[in-house]
Amino acid sequence: MSRAVARKKLRVSGVVQGVGFRPFVYRLAQKHRLAGHVRNTSSSVELEIEGDPLALDAFLHDFVSDTPALARLQEVVAEDVLPLGEDKFTILASQDSGPTAAVIPADVALCPDCAREISDPQDRRYLYPFTNCTNCGPRFTIIRNVPYDREQTTMAAFALCPDCREEYANPLNRRFHAEPTACPVCGPNLWLEYDGQRWERHALARAGELLRDGRIIAVKGLGGFHLACDARQAAAVELLRQRKGRQDKPFAVTVRDMRVAEEICELTDSDRRLLASPASPIVLVRRRAGTDLAPGLAPGNNYLGLMLPYTPLHLLLLQHSPPVLVMTSGNRSEEPLAFDNDEARRTLGHLADGFLFHNRGIQVPCDDSVIRLIPEIGPTIIRRARGYVPEALALPLTCPEDILGVGAQDKNTFCLGWDRSALLSQHLGDLDSLETFDYFRYAIEHFKALSQRQPSVVAHDLHPSYLSTRYAQELRDVRRLGVQHHHAHIAACLAEHGRLGPCLGLAFDGTGYGLDGAIWGGEILLADLAGYRRAGHFAPVLLPGGEAAVRHPGRMALAYLQAAYGDAAFQQAERLGLTFSPLERQILERQLATGWNSPTTTSAGRLFDAVAAALNICRRRTYEGQPALELEMAAEYAEDEFYPIPVIKQDQRLVLDTVALFRHTVEDFLQGAPPNRAAGRFHESLARVCLEICLQLREETGLNLVALSGGVWQNGLLALRTVARLSQAGFEVLTHQQTPPNDGGIALGQVAVVAAVLGMQTP
Ligand code: ZN
Ligand code: ZN
Ligand code: FE
Repeated sequence: MSRAVARKKLRVSGVVQGVGFRPFVYRLAQKHRLAGHVRNTSSSVELEIEGDPLALDAFLHDFVSDTPALARLQEVVAEDVLPLGEDKFTILASQDSGPTAAVIPADVALCPDCAREISDPQDRRYLYPFTNCTNCGPRFTIIRNVPYDREQTTMAAFALCPDCREEYANPLNRRFHAEPTACPVCGPNLWLEYDGQRWERHALARAGELLRDGRIIAVKGLGGFHLACDARQAAAVELLRQRKGRQDKPFAVTVRDMRVAEEICELTDSDRRLLASPASPIVLVRRRAGTDLAPGLAPGNNYLGLMLPYTPLHLLLLQHSPPVLVMTSGNRSEEPLAFDNDEARRTLGHLADGFLFHNRGIQVPCDDSVIRLIPEIGPTIIRRARGYVPEALALPLTCPEDILGVGAQDKNTFCLGWDRSALLSQHLGDLDSLETFDYFRYAIEHFKALSQRQPSVVAHDLHPSYLSTRYAQELRDVRRLGVQHHHAHIAACLAEHGRLGPCLGLAFDGTGYGLDGAIWGGEILLADLAGYRRAGHFAPVLLPGGEAAVRHPGRMALAYLQAAYGDAAFQQAERLGLTFSPLERQILERQLATGWNSPTTTSAGRLFDAVAAALNICRRRTYEGQPALELEMAAEYAEDEFYPIPVIKQDQRLVLDTVALFRHTVEDFLQGAPPNRAAGRFHESLARVCLEICLQLREETGLNLVALSGGVWQNGLLALRTVARLSQAGFEVLTHQQTPPNDGGIALGQVAVVAAVLGMQTP
């Protein structure tokens, strides 16, 4: 035999584990009659192929062009090695080989093949709620460690039955090496606990019946528990609000199928695609008028958070239950998601009438992701979790060391950075409860284990009392670097677009610790990843009573009235119908006159609060962001009139006269403008002044790149108008697409800033 034989070794990194990658390689090797092997390492997939050189080339061609749908190739390194004379291709056991960049796949929504099987009476997985395959099912939430093998997941407790074992071992089967595979014989099972009884056989049917009767059922799903009730029964929705201690904050719903979704909401093509995507997030979609949904579902909101059933369990439950279910995180407001059966009995016992349990363990809880599609801008991720985490983000620069960014306080996420990868955690919640703080610490350790990284540098916010900052300060044997909040916002936006800057950064949010001790939040920065200059900001006003003014938008309106009208503030407040008790008035007068207990702020979020209260659109805030959200919802979208906002140069900085903007809005309203038009004009005016500022700064600096970051950019109307105006003027505009514009993106920005700063120190 003198035929030429060659052998190649390939190392492939990216999302390549848990996505049917090894079976794909196996089938490809069979097709091209190649010998060799493939195996998972903790960092990558490694394969060697041997055979005819032409066949090797054909293999490589298919390898790149036919990659499995869920796989993401980051890097493929190939080298020639000596042929070994093998004649078979095999899948080898995983090899654990030291510190690596293993990319764990995210959880994937039920695939069409599995959906078909569970609705086929002839199939052995008919009605089985834990059906999955290499194309779908749990991943991130069940993985204990790397490499990703069944033994390292919570499925290790279930030994495969002979049928499942055969599928698992058959390279031509869809379940070949599907690590969480299961069937009714060998896999997890489901039961309902209600009224001291336990149903196993008809658990789903019984749960559906209870939901139809207006009961609240805690449902254990993929990444934790949901509290479910019939979204059309006002009493059930009201009861859930009472028990959860959640007054107005919108509830998300799960619908039986796309047809039901169309009945209650107006969907665009992009909405439909996103709803049915493998990540299957909650999508904020415009609701139809005149549906029979409970009025208390999402008060003051024209949008509804909607998702499709993304596990077989949810799909089957929705076939028995009412067609639209409230599905809200199983926790008390602002506490972390419950995910363990015993813990759920303890913490949700007084919230739910019954429990739909299963015995597949959840290793790490993960909330549903929430996305809003803004026309002409694209997806804006409001909460990044299930379906997206832990997919690594590519950094535009190399981390000289391993970096941990601990994020901010609210909507906390953290981020691990190494080489050119950033692993942003799932949404963890507000770090003010002990439970969330414990969850934060646990999740950091878990991510360190999964990525096998020991960060030597920790990046944190400058706010001294954020729990994330305190956590950073208590760590031993690491260096610490503080990153200014709004710089981190802009850096996050640059980084996710693979950019280093410099740019004009418009960082608009509620609260961020400023360098002068003031509360910043309407900030115009000239920034690159390594540094920034504060080029401008909103007009400073007092924040009477600090946090108290954040909770009471009426007090914020008064602070603006004081800035606009001085002594006539209370008189103007009266004309607006804003009333204060005598005691409240006394305190506010003193705070505004002396600045007692009242820091100054340039916060954009607080301006929205003040306007929402002045226009009587929202005077009672029961959740974070409510006034701004309701102001946007009330605003006339087509409005094109606006108020002039002066821009004043002060101490080398541009100050947007946002007090004048407030005064114009109030006077327009008092002269009879309907609140929705005044609200529309307010938005349009802000968009215009953003353009004006950017034009002035482009003139000065020559910069043409603009990055928009901060929670205020979740406002679709403001984002739409601002991006349109800036683009018309020839600016290149970056908005967040892969990470949230709110504080959920801060940790990525912290990592990017520290990577840039360290990079300059070690050239
Ligand atoms: Zn499947
Ligand atoms: Zn089985
Ligand atoms: Fe922020």
